[in-house]
Amino acid sequence: MISARAHAIKNLKAQHPFIDEGVLLSKLIAYCSREAHSCVEKGAMMAFVKLKIVEPDEHNSLRGAALREVMMQDQAMGMIPFYVAATLGTTSVCSFDNVEEIGLVCREFPTVWLHIDAAYAGAAFVCPEFRSYLKGVQFADSISTNTNKWLLTCFDCSCLWVKNRYKLTSALVVNPVYLKHGFEGAIDYRHWQIPLSRRFRSLKLWFVLRTYGISGLQKYIRHHCELAKRFEKLVLADSRFEISNEVKLGLVCFRLVGNQGMTIESVNKMNQKLLEAINDSGKLHMVPSKVNDKFIIRFCVVAHDQTQDDIDYAWEIIKEYGERTLKESLIQEEIVSDEVSEMVKRKKDLAYKRSFFVRMVSDPKIYNPTMAHPTSSRFSNRFSASEIDDIIEDEPSEEPTTPTATWISWPLAFLFQGETPNVMMRFRHLDTTVHLKPHRDGHTRALPPAESTSPRRDRSKSPKVSPTEKQNHLVEKKETPRKKSNEGIN
Ligand SMILES: *Cc1c(COP(=O)(O)O)cnc(C)c1O
Repeated sequence: MISARAHAIKNLKAQHPFIDEGVLLSKLIAYCSREAHSCVEKGAMMAFVKLKIVEPDEHNSLRGAALREVMMQDQAMGMIPFYVAATLGTTSVCSFDNVEEIGLVCREFPTVWLHIDAAYAGAAFVCPEFRSYLKGVQFADSISTNTNKWLLTCFDCSCLWVKNRYKLTSALVVNPVYLKHGFEGAIDYRHWQIPLSRRFRSLKLWFVLRTYGISGLQKYIRHHCELAKRFEKLVLADSRFEISNEVKLGLVCFRLVGNQGMTIESVNKMNQKLLEAINDSGKLHMVPSKVNDKFIIRFCVVAHDQTQDDIDYAWEIIKEYGERTLKESLIQEEIVSDEVSEMVKRKKDLAYKRSFFVRMVSDPKIYNPTMAHPTSSRFSNRFSASEIDDIIEDEPSEEPTTPTATWISWPLAFLFQGETPNVMMRFRHLDTTVHLKPHRDGHTRALPPAESTSPRRDRSKSPKVSPTEKQNHLVEKKETPRKKSNEGIN
């Protein structure tokens, strides 16, 4: 993503030599599916670019049309799509994005880098029968796969392929005198990565390849896929359970169905209890996920010497604990009381799923396209009080009783400059709030003189505020200045 960013900024700078890189950066936007791994979001945080989450189809596959629609909308608003992450083998359910459709869409935009994340499923492509999922791979600028996940190599060892290595390295080359050497013609991997030093991981992968050979690796992958199919069959034969994904490789997602009349929350709770009981027993270990608000249990075949007996044994344990959990869940009262607390917690859960900034960019209710328009009217007309309240409630906070100020992160604040009456900004890690005042002259310039205040006050001193007071607080409240400096701005 950092290379894609460098590439995009370089291209834009060539077209607009007098526009500052910071302004260009504020226009860049990346895309991925709701089912993409959280590493894409983390990448966007580190690269300081906007990331929009796009809804996949009913098979949890990101499709070209859905992607094109949001990219076109953003482009029409002056944003610049620069990066798309497609996933082959998603973490939650091992679904596959439609890379061919996505690749064709990416071609319609001048500077989009298409990355394919095949962290887990990439190993399966040693078998020709799974290569149909790679359709459209020719559009990719980069593909990654983690051989430590499913290709018999111990942690950590990942492979990254790049179409054009100069596009990758041009973002990361620094050449101080003390790092110069006499082998300029040799590939120097320090330019291919963020850290300078690098472990010799390829040696262990080389040993795996030499030990197993292509046919040995294929046999290994196929065996795991067969075992997964065996497990799927066992689950399907039991009406108390259901399969929650399309089993394509070694991952089988399943759950207890629950009794008629149970809400989705209480079925989730029941499955959560089942998984806790199984994992606590120490006999099996499984990792859950949540897809379309359903809590699912993920059974993944990973041990190198697994046999059919191991699968049957695992199923016996799951059945045993499943039976117990079902009996316990018949005690309705518990479920009813759970539902109440579940409803209270639900909004909070959502808040933890994505970082505030990504939610802000991806949720049309919060991120109103017209706000970025230079001719748009005042900020207060664009954000209703209830929307502001929504934002505040969604923000995960360690101190929920502390009155929270309205804040926006700086890329958006940048767009608001000159438009907004008085917006407070928060610097995520600096515990600082800055009042951003509109420019009187209407010209863009550096941040205005700032007042720094501390938004996190001692909980014991924080009075509880009513909704109306809270709203007043948002706009008017001047908190005790902690320091007079304009810390956090530079
Ligand atoms: C496991 C996984 C990752 C994370 O890989 P790391 O090497 O641990 O960073 C990323 N994407 C997908 C789809 C994964 O399954």
